[in-house]
Amino acid sequence: MPTSEFELIQRCFVDQGLGFARAGVELGIGDDCALIAPLAGEMLAVSLDTLVAGVHFPLGSLSPLDSSAAAPALIANRALAVNLSDLAAMGAAPLAFTLGLTLPHDDAQWMSEFARGLLPLARQFDCPLIGGDTTRGPLAITIQVHGSVNALRAPRRSAARAGELICVTGTLGDAAAALQLIGAESHLGRRLAFSREPNNSDSDYLRSRYFAPSPRVAFARAAAPFMGACIDLSDGLLGDLGHILAASGVGARLDTLTLPFSPALSNTLDPEQCELAALSGGDDYELCFTAAPTDLSAVRDCAAALGLPLSVVGEIETQKGLRLSRGAEPIESPPSAYQHF
Ligand code: ADP
Ligand code: MG
Repeated sequence: MPTSEFELIQRCFVDQGLGFARAGVELGIGDDCALIAPLAGEMLAVSLDTLVAGVHFPLGSLSPLDSSAAAPALIANRALAVNLSDLAAMGAAPLAFTLGLTLPHDDAQWMSEFARGLLPLARQFDCPLIGGDTTRGPLAITIQVHGSVNALRAPRRSAARAGELICVTGTLGDAAAALQLIGAESHLGRRLAFSREPNNSDSDYLRSRYFAPSPRVAFARAAAPFMGACIDLSDGLLGDLGHILAASGVGARLDTLTLPFSPALSNTLDPEQCELAALSGGDDYELCFTAAPTDLSAVRDCAAALGLPLSVVGEIETQKGLRLSRGAEPIESPPSAYQHF
């Protein structure tokens, strides 16, 4: 990297405070490698996500050419949040992150705004920027997070067992509604039918659920000892639960009447559209996990301590496949993501 580019990293990222010190990070930005150490007796948990402009975030309203200074900050916040959510799904504590930035041209203002969007989450999760790479090309952002986890407690996708309850944190379907509000494609591949035009506060709430997902790290750290399998909800409950079922070699039943919806979603969509958004919408970054019935009260306590809604939506069964119902009434033709398995 030419000196001027390193100066840009220094000015836009380091001087803005993204490279702060923390225990376990021996060396950050500026050398050939960063040096990090997981906690004694723990393992390094590593996950990487790439966001490509126009594919993973809407280009039209958020391109670097956009005059709205908030755009790069929104992208940055979301990019780091979805990575932290992967650490949460593994029960890992964030240590640090690295950043691969592909930019069409040198743009100090864009980079500063981008850094401004990273800083609150980096601070909140004590997860400093420790290095990366910067290249020219169409806008793309890769973030790799590094965390520390007790490997024996990491809730792997393969660990679900028949008889365990299927739980989800928070509310589902908000992000799919938000994507439609900003005119972008969601995982649904079809449009939701709004029953009412959302008012400003509902609309703001739904958008914030897409642009600023809340990684459930604190909850997962507390509840991991009681979890069987865990996954974060990026593609929609049907698809993501399907990954757990496939990896664990089990099936499940799921009652859609128990799915948790936010007031903003319920104000805007009829119940069956809420259900569709929750099952197949994706981008909510809540956690879906299994827990033995005897551990449910412990798990509920972990959620309550954080003010986080927790819902039991189904049960793991020996028989493969997923059986959906609305209360006692079976759903014979579930939405398309059902075909994942
Ligand atoms: P090298 O050529 O040894 O790979 P570079 O010249 O690419 O190193 O980068 C110099 C330093 O700047 C390294 O410490 C690297 O981690 C850091 N760096 C480069 N790009 C970024 C970025 N986008 N974010 C954070 N750190 C970066
Ligand atoms: Mg390099």
